[in-house]
Amino acid sequence: SKDFDDDNDPGRVRVSVRVRPRNGEELKSDADFADLVELQPEIKRLKLRKNNWSSESYRFDEVFTDTSSQKRVYEGVAKPVVEGVLNGYNGTIMAYGQTGTGKTYTVGKIGKDDAAERGIMVRALEDILETASSASVSVEISYLQLYMETIQDLLAPEKSNISINEDAKTGEVSVPGATVVHVQDLDHFLQVLQVGETNRHAANTKMNTESSRSHAILTVHVRRAMNEKAETGTKTRDKEAKPESLGDKGIPKVRKSKLLIVDLAGSERINKSGTDGHLIEEAKFINLSLTSLGKCINALAEGSSHIPTRDSKLTRLLRDSFGGSARTSLIITIGPSARYHAETTSTIMFGQRAM
Ligand code: ADP
Ligand code: MG
Repeated sequence: SKDFDDDNDPGRVRVSVRVRPRNGEELKSDADFADLVELQPEIKRLKLRKNNWSSESYRFDEVFTDTSSQKRVYEGVAKPVVEGVLNGYNGTIMAYGQTGTGKTYTVGKIGKDDAAERGIMVRALEDILETASSASVSVEISYLQLYMETIQDLLAPEKSNISINEDAKTGEVSVPGATVVHVQDLDHFLQVLQVGETNRHAANTKMNTESSRSHAILTVHVRRAMNEKAETGTKTRDKEAKPESLGDKGIPKVRKSKLLIVDLAGSERINKSGTDGHLIEEAKFINLSLTSLGKCINALAEGSSHIPTRDSKLTRLLRDSFGGSARTSLIITIGPSARYHAETTSTIMFGQRAM
């Protein structure tokens, strides 16, 4: 869409920031957040205090306050990527931030009883399914969890060590072992997402881990038969219905694209000072994908020709869906408490390095 096509740099990462509303306790005790962070949504800037005598102002693609609606966040963060996916480009939308700052609310909120509360996953599927119903488009999803460099299937928890495949010729990344669900309509998607959420909770309870340590990755596969309208002779037609929409030997070409929506693990540092070495190894492993993602995003922002995607499972999964012709959007979430000065600052700097 506009924001991506207007700049001549489609590989650029779009970066937005959102502040969670204060909870009851914060309303009582945190009068001084404004001293740490000042939001200027009209000019898309955020001012961060560095120390007692200086502050720095940072520009973002969007700045969302504690009163910004889920709809506005979807439109600013996700819609340009979803439109790209519907036009045949891969895309990635990610939420990054400290645990408790609203990543899951922003990305994964189901909003069963209140459609206004729906997060990016649901709204994206709503838009994609709407297009699918009027064109010859099939929509399939898989939903995975990545923890300690191990991929689990959130739609079939018994599949707990799934491998990633990369096509040597095309570079296409796939996860052949993952359950794929053909989505019929939004209600069906809501049910599947709920199953995934329940399984995520159960898996983490069983492993005695927290969901804040794992990444949840929804992949949406969109496939469009390019000559369908020509075959059926429907009146509405666009440029795709030309003879070149038939591939070799007259077999209809299918335009494939995919959208990855990622609820990242909490960005807070994991305590490595365990007594038994095992914890240290674990902490290193838990951090690996997030650290590696940071390196890739920095390399992308610097226009580097080498994006080091091989270092972790997360970046291997993302490999064909960010950078290059893919559209990437990152939303960083911060809490409204001055207590987390260090984490909030670190999250804002992560976002800035991505731009
Ligand atoms: P995270 O996934 O980053 O750990 P959550 O999304 O679970 O954080 O958010 C923590 C709590 O704050 C949840 O109870 C969530 O519903 C609430 N919350 C987060 N963002 C918002 C928001 N923008 N509006 C209302 N409630 C929010
Ligand atoms: Mg969460």
